Amino acid sequence: MAFISALCMASCCGKGESNMERLRELMVKNQIEERGVTDQRVLHAMRTVERHLFIPSHVISEAYNDHPLPIGHGQTISQPYIVALMTELCELRGVEKVLEVGTGSGYQAAILSLLAKKVYSIEIVEPLGKNARSLLKKMGYDNVEVRIGDGYKGWPEEAPFDRIILTASPPVIPQTLIDQLADGGILVSPEGEFMQELVRIRKNGDRITKESITYVRFVPMVHGR
Ligand code: SAH
Repeated sequence: MAFISALCMASCCGKGESNMERLRELMVKNQIEERGVTDQRVLHAMRTVERHLFIPSHVISEAYNDHPLPIGHGQTISQPYIVALMTELCELRGVEKVLEVGTGSGYQAAILSLLAKKVYSIEIVEPLGKNARSLLKKMGYDNVEVRIGDGYKGWPEEAPFDRIILTASPPVIPQTLIDQLADGGILVSPEGEFMQELVRIRKNGDRITKESITYVRFVPMVHGR
């Protein structure tokens, strides 16, 4: 069913859009709420952002399915539930300055942009970063800035950040990024190489606390040349 509706979207417009809206609603209900995400602002953002516009056309029929999708250059857009879970873990209220490492398609940045004040996103693969930057601009996500660069360095000119989210997995959370986290800030990230855990780090003064959330599978966070 989902496959047929999505194909319709590719060939028509008005009716297809409402099909996409229905698929998005089902995604939120069955994949995200069902698994325990309750933050209403996060659920609203997941219902709002048009995920199918962030992926290559050959996988558009799978846009709202319960798995990651290829976005080119060997990279992937995360499974919708993982995007929602990581966003919920960020505890956004709308006033935060957020750093994302791994812009990829720009989808996670779009979700964050609806929930925070300003989003700074770094992508190491130039064509992905450029594409996401122009897509986000075209779609009116005006509070997102995309930089092509190495996320291991963070974005020192704009630090500190109230929240930092990594969507590629470093072997260990880089100290540079913890240093760029504001007091009272939260960092959410996968950590590890083959075995990866989703972790949440809180910074309170000199105290750093780390919580392990669940096992995950992300693309590796690579080093720039
Ligand atoms: N948030 C993205 C998910 C992209 S997958 C989305 O919503 O689509 C992770 C991304 O991290 C990939 O695009 C990969 O190129 C990028 N990446 C890997 N190592 C990086 C690094 N050191 N700095 C910045 N981006 C990096």
